Amino acid sequence: MEAKMKTKQSRNRMTIDRLKYYRHLGGGAIECIKSRLSKKPKPLCFSLMVTSKCNCNCDFCFWKHNSDKEDMPLEEIKRIIKEAGELGYLDSILWGGEPLLREDFAEICKASQEAGLYTKIATNGWFLETNPDFAKYTDLSFISLDAIGKAHDDIRHLEGICDRVMSGIEYHKIHSPKMRIYICCTVSAQTDFGQIKEVAEYCRDADILLYFTVNKSNQLLEEAQNVKDTELETDQLSEIFVKIKELKKQGYPIRNSYYFMDYIIAKKNYYECHWPQIATVIYSNGEMLQCYDRKPFIDVKNRPLKEVIEDPVFVETVNRCKDCKLACVGNYALDASGLWKLEWSAIKSLMEIAIT
Ligand code: SF4
Ligand code: SF4
Repeated sequence: MEAKMKTKQSRNRMTIDRLKYYRHLGGGAIECIKSRLSKKPKPLCFSLMVTSKCNCNCDFCFWKHNSDKEDMPLEEIKRIIKEAGELGYLDSILWGGEPLLREDFAEICKASQEAGLYTKIATNGWFLETNPDFAKYTDLSFISLDAIGKAHDDIRHLEGICDRVMSGIEYHKIHSPKMRIYICCTVSAQTDFGQIKEVAEYCRDADILLYFTVNKSNQLLEEAQNVKDTELETDQLSEIFVKIKELKKQGYPIRNSYYFMDYIIAKKNYYECHWPQIATVIYSNGEMLQCYDRKPFIDVKNRPLKEVIEDPVFVETVNRCKDCKLACVGNYALDASGLWKLEWSAIKSLMEIAIT
């Protein structure tokens, strides 16, 4: 079935506010060039896990084995975010665990917006209506929905979460008209294409956007066996993305880039990764972890962020990423690495996402 044409009233139409995306993309490309020339990484995405605690218990969760770590207090988080803005980071992504478990989460979002960062959050959606003030200070929300109805509840091991996600989205469509809403749908062995298509239909009908994240970790961590158990094989992933690409062409509001989808469809298993040079990922206790083995290597707690990102340990660790063979596709690493290398197909794909 053809996707419905967007009307002029679509909440996803182009607006002046959306020009922030161009600043983000253009600024990102310039920062990548500067970083490359100086060999000193100047990351532009600020990614902060605000809590490791969560009310779901997903089988594919990468983080649940670390939920005993102590979260940083609000004042420390605000200090680090302010410094990120001063250092020229362009955007933030605030996540967890479940970030809305923090009663002070709106304050964290406010600090991010006041620091001049394009502010994004990622949530499982359970508390959208009971802790809603974050939306006053948030440009974009990623809300998890992997299937429709009980199937989603089963994946997240939380009865009623699908209904709460949908109700919360309707609430924010009314009360937070400027906030972009993305469904974040995890493609794993726990869903089939029929269920994925239902999610795409829901997003089209609800006039919200859709991003597929891929549950594929090439890491062989003992603690991540649960992730491995829910992964699709490369051939299966490729088949599903052929169909997802077709849905995007039909006009479903899918925002994964063609660059990303074509990589998966072609069953590629290597690219030169530059993600850690672009994104600074900080965990809820203030440590940064090496992405390839999740071991802590430096701490931002009680230490100026500028000092941390100029520390030789930080510089050497993130510059080593280009030799990493893990080829993660589960986050933005692939798209961002294409942007870093100024590959036209990546830039074109990301520009299409920005304007549509
Ligand atoms: S909602 Fe996210 S953080 Fe919580 S258990 Fe699921 S994957 Fe993990
Ligand atoms: S491929 Fe990139 S994001 Fe993945 S572990 Fe290696 S350096 Fe990190």
